[in-house]
Amino acid sequence: MQNINFNFPAPVVDSSVEALRLEVRGFLADERRKGTFQPGPDCWCAGIDTEFTRKLGQKGWIGVTWPKEYGGRELTALHRYVITEELLVAGAPVHAHWIADRQSGPLILQSGTQAMKEGILPRIAAGTCYFALGLSEPGAGSDLAAVKTRAVPTEGGWRITGTKLWSSGAQVCEYMTVLARTSKVDEKHRHAGLTQFLVRLDAPGVTVRGIRDMSGVEHFNETNFDNVFVPEDAVLGAVGDGWKQITGELAMERSGPERFLSTFVALERAFSRMAAARENTHQQAVLGRLAARIRALRSMSLGVATLLQNGESPDVEAAIVKDIGTRFEQEIIEKLREFWPIMMAQGQGDELQHLLSESLLRQPSFTLRGGTNEILKGIIARGLGLR
Ligand SMILES: Cc1cc2nc3c(=O)[nH]c(=O)nc-3n(C[C@H](O)[C@H](O)[C@H](O)COP(=O)(O)OP(=O)(O)OC[C@H]3O[C@@H](n4cnc5c(N)ncnc54)[C@H](O)[C@@H]3O)c2cc1C
Repeated sequence: MQNINFNFPAPVVDSSVEALRLEVRGFLADERRKGTFQPGPDCWCAGIDTEFTRKLGQKGWIGVTWPKEYGGRELTALHRYVITEELLVAGAPVHAHWIADRQSGPLILQSGTQAMKEGILPRIAAGTCYFALGLSEPGAGSDLAAVKTRAVPTEGGWRITGTKLWSSGAQVCEYMTVLARTSKVDEKHRHAGLTQFLVRLDAPGVTVRGIRDMSGVEHFNETNFDNVFVPEDAVLGAVGDGWKQITGELAMERSGPERFLSTFVALERAFSRMAAARENTHQQAVLGRLAARIRALRSMSLGVATLLQNGESPDVEAAIVKDIGTRFEQEIIEKLREFWPIMMAQGQGDELQHLLSESLLRQPSFTLRGGTNEILKGIIARGLGLR
């Protein structure tokens, strides 16, 4: 067996990071007092409120690590971390800008044209331009190399035809980054011949259709591309580089606090309830263990943010955080159900029971989206030299 090789360094947190945390926390408390939003579980995926996102843009809390010339503030990955953590802990409706802030903006910074950087990044940072991810398809999820969406060269650009599935939030997005096949499948090199395109979702030939999930919400979509024309400069990076780009985005996509805090709002309410009751020692022990595990996961997630800040690509560390973190955020609900039975009928139960029932309906997705846990274990095993 090769050397076990992963690393979660402790972050160096300066006073400006903590000052930013307090500022975000104060803003969120004010917004709650004003009744701007109701805290909800899975808010980074389920909570779309473009007005709220615009407010965050006005505060300068989107795209904070990007260059100032493109609307950013040139802050560190740790500054971004504390903003996202505070938003998740508050259960704020942040889905509209989440994907663009987390990965589409950085992708444009790395592989986009100058016109994309100047025209799109400042609008993402202002909270007015949103992105969807066009990776999965019917028949291509874990095995992304099986994508069938094709882009064929035409005069002045490309014609895209195919169907993307489960594209979160596409109904409010201006753009989708679409992974398409640009040359025939070579069975020996299945990951070759894939290219990412920037596609406007209002282009002729694009249809976005909502898919209702079991919580009753149309959060993700099926998006059809019927011979959609995109200009030459819609290619992100170089033709054929799609696979390399996607794998490069994975550490950003998989390691953030959204991978263990999706049900934190329910846990936090449970703690308040327990503190008020001050009696049940079994309950205290169970909640205490959950709190200890959050602390450990948080240290690991901060370790990945530190590695990203240092310019590294911590794919294995990110897969470990997502595997443990997503199972943990599901387990929170199972543990809390021991003490607070879930009321599924609308309008029944108190706030905690409402949060628990919402979480229960959303939790199956935690270990699927962004790469299933079986796939993550394969990545971790490879990183450890076990396969
Ligand atoms: C809430 C939500 C939001 C999403 N948002 C987006 C989005 O915005 N954009 C987007 O492109 N996609 C999105 N997805 C899709 C997501 O990335 C896929 O669901 C995921 O990659 C799994 O693909 P699949 O659903 O096709 O399942 P499959 O790949 O068919 O997997 C089915 C089962 O087989 C297992 N399996 C598959 N291959 C292997 C293997 N080699 N070894 C062991 N087990 C295996 C899987 O672990 C899983 O349990 C979203 C999904 C959800 C649930």
